[in-house]
Amino acid sequence: MSDHTEVKMTAMNYDNDRPKAANPLLIEDLSLRDGHQSLFATRGRTEDMIPVAERMDEIGFWAAEVWGGATFDTMHRFLGEDPWERLRTLKRYFKKTPFSMLLRGQNLVGYRNYADDVARLFVKKTADNGMDIFRTFDALNDYRNFETVVPVIKECGKHFQGCICYTLTEARLGGEVYNLEYYIKKAKELEDMGADSICIKDMAGLMAPYDAYDLVKAMKENVKPLIHLHSHFTSGMSPMTHFKAIEAGVDIIDTCVTPYAYRTSHAALEPFVMSLLGTNRDTGFDIKALADINEILERDVMPKYKHLLDDSKVSVIDINVLLHQTPGGMLSNLVNQLKEMDALDKIDEVYRQLPRVRKELGQVPLVTPTSQIVGIQTVNNVLFDTPDERYKMVTAQVKDLCYGLYGKTSVPIDSEVQKKALKGYDRGEKPITCRPAEVLEPELENAKKLIGDLAVDDEDLIIFALFPVTGKKYLMQKYGKEKIPESIKPITLEDVAKQKTMIEKAKKGELIERTCLDCAPLKSEYTRTFNVFVEDEYFEVGVDEVGGAPVITYAAPVSAPAPAAPAAPAAQAPAPAPAKPKTAPAPKKEPAPVAASGTPVKAPMPGMVIKYEKNVGDTVNEGETVIVIEAMKMENALPAPISGVIKAVNFSSGDSVAKGDVLAVIE
Ligand code: MN
Repeated sequence: MSDHTEVKMTAMNYDNDRPKAANPLLIEDLSLRDGHQSLFATRGRTEDMIPVAERMDEIGFWAAEVWGGATFDTMHRFLGEDPWERLRTLKRYFKKTPFSMLLRGQNLVGYRNYADDVARLFVKKTADNGMDIFRTFDALNDYRNFETVVPVIKECGKHFQGCICYTLTEARLGGEVYNLEYYIKKAKELEDMGADSICIKDMAGLMAPYDAYDLVKAMKENVKPLIHLHSHFTSGMSPMTHFKAIEAGVDIIDTCVTPYAYRTSHAALEPFVMSLLGTNRDTGFDIKALADINEILERDVMPKYKHLLDDSKVSVIDINVLLHQTPGGMLSNLVNQLKEMDALDKIDEVYRQLPRVRKELGQVPLVTPTSQIVGIQTVNNVLFDTPDERYKMVTAQVKDLCYGLYGKTSVPIDSEVQKKALKGYDRGEKPITCRPAEVLEPELENAKKLIGDLAVDDEDLIIFALFPVTGKKYLMQKYGKEKIPESIKPITLEDVAKQKTMIEKAKKGELIERTCLDCAPLKSEYTRTFNVFVEDEYFEVGVDEVGGAPVITYAAPVSAPAPAAPAAPAAQAPAPAPAKPKTAPAPKKEPAPVAASGTPVKAPMPGMVIKYEKNVGDTVNEGETVIVIEAMKMENALPAPISGVIKAVNFSSGDSVAKGDVLAVIE
């Protein structure tokens, strides 16, 4: 038995002056990034991190993850916060604990590969603003997507942590692709790139305890860098998985403090502290100090976030991850997409076809964005394929994947599928084999020109370069050129108390009785709207501040209960703010009169028109793209069913269309 697995009890007291363990387990705390990203749709605000920041700095974490992933996007888009400012502010409170961030390789903190010049400047400025550890991953485990950022991390004297995305094709570790040899090979590649530590990133919570044991043991035997385990709780296995990893000698694990733990987030720290107390892996942490942090969070912070929890189910475990190996977020996306198309009865067929589509698309790991790419293509195949033709409707992202724009897949993409997907593809029909960013033109100079003086420094410029639309909007707000909308201002504990009072009143029936819009004072422009849920009823409540005292100006019951927003899965594109239920359905746009004769091009699914590739009078060949519509964040090119001339175009860019709408007519 190695000294890693020896669990010798040396002390049994709670005090943090107990003897130091021979090989203490190192802990990275994720509460302030992955914790609220997983549980609260990444809506955590800096002001809610400060109350516990100094106490957390005292615990003795190996690192605190506070930045990156989806935080950069949600901060500027939904919270009116400057992402760079958060980093600098928290650094003033965390004086000892190194900071860690999640860097999506060449995707940085966005959803596409950015050009090398943007990637270099981003890493440099992130280091300048206080980042210490760059946890870097790529959805395809194609480390050519690390080649630009790693040298900059090293030049800045910072810690490069390389990730291996953990995925499976079987129920357990093994099979032809994702077996022990695959992970060891990947670990060696990272070691050769100069990784200071290696993180096994189990974003979907797929790793079983005994597989963790074998994997960690093999890694400790084969590579020198520290081994770090990141395993989401989603399936419920993670505390057991971590424990076996500890026995196998893992150096660092990721946890959250209890209020940010479990569900789609991570295992809680405190049970580990107690379980390891007095052993050779004792963390040495002060359990009482952790209890204080819990108390502050529960009292002062959690009430403001509770409403963001996905409470559609009582269970904290997602059993579907165990059943179908589909990450939680991917599953809820599939269900939503099928619902939208009135085809929820096809879910079993989607489960059945998913492994085949994934295999044909190169057996990619299922992590954002590849999980969505495979999931939505599978739905398209189930709904639109015919007995003699598969892949009838290929999404733009599948075309990009087939072209090589995301990188190299673990096994080659099926050549038939690839050929079909790349037919008429705008970058060319021959896939690339080089590093994807090599085909991207530099972007910074153009961004500078476009944003002009609105970007005061490089940090501003990066916000714009990464997120041109929302980034520009944020900069307008930051420099007072645009009013900050009420909807993005923080809610306070007083707001929470007010909502509670209203719910109490609504329960007693008082609120509805007094709903009298005719006799109410006029709603001012300062009215703030709250969504109030009472059992299965939903109320939209407007609250107006008059002379400091809140008065209810209106409370309108809304017919259907609002669907709860699914918790954002790890590293997923942030879900848009929960859609406000409509009080009245938007008037349906009447399509222009369709030509009496001709063949219609119909919308196969509800969505939004991105663009028409053909206009009235254009000739079109069968199979050529007529129109591109967006559904579930994926672009779908709709082909001409016959050759002919476009006789009518019934919608324009930005229009919403329903399933079956006639988009164009060919004659
Ligand atoms: Mn994660």
